[in-house]
Amino acid sequence: MFTGVNCSKAMGRHCEGFPSPALRSIIEENNLFLQLRKRGKTVRFADAYLIDSPDDLKVRRFKSATTVMALTAPETIATSEDLMQNRAIMQDITRETIQDRYPDIPVITPQRAAEHLFGIARESDFTLFEFFQTDVSGHSLDYARACSVLRAYDLFLSALVRFIEAAGLTLVMTSDHGNIEAMTERGHTTNPVPFIALGPRASFIRDRVKSLVDVTPAILAAFDELG
Ligand SMILES: [Zn+2]
Repeated sequence: MFTGVNCSKAMGRHCEGFPSPALRSIIEENNLFLQLRKRGKTVRFADAYLIDSPDDLKVRRFKSATTVMALTAPETIATSEDLMQNRAIMQDITRETIQDRYPDIPVITPQRAAEHLFGIARESDFTLFEFFQTDVSGHSLDYARACSVLRAYDLFLSALVRFIEAAGLTLVMTSDHGNIEAMTERGHTTNPVPFIALGPRASFIRDRVKSLVDVTPAILAAFDELG
């Protein structure tokens, strides 16, 4: 999704979870953030890392694909300080999952989180927000938990869409795999994922996306056409 490279093909198999060293090299060599930076665009990864500085991330043993990408462009990374200043979003949107460790960081409503994300998006050329509680709750097989995650996400998205549409920004939403839609199986599914685009560049981008490897090239093409 973030490289335009068919990594399963490059690796000879599909890899789930944290990328292996070989996969990391593919991401580090070239990715959406680096390509946007090369074009002089400002990029923000809106998910807050509960760290003091991007250097604290480098030493983590397990790094997600997005963390590997963000580390190639550390200026995109949001820290605890950014979260406290509402310049970042917690990955669970409302911050409820971090209350035991960070009781001083106030819980917010999904609508307020959408307002924060919109504030970040307005200040950058490209903003990424990664939400994976749908995946976590899918793995848990806990139906009530999945419903509560979806309710919060729905409130978040409906507020976000209103802000984005009023401001004339483009919003793109997709996923690299399913999980929560099949609460009878614990693992990821192979169902097709939705690709949703809203706003002025929506049809331009949508027309260019047939699979995950098209996402990065389509977003870059939209920037290239705009200049
Ligand atoms: Zn998963």
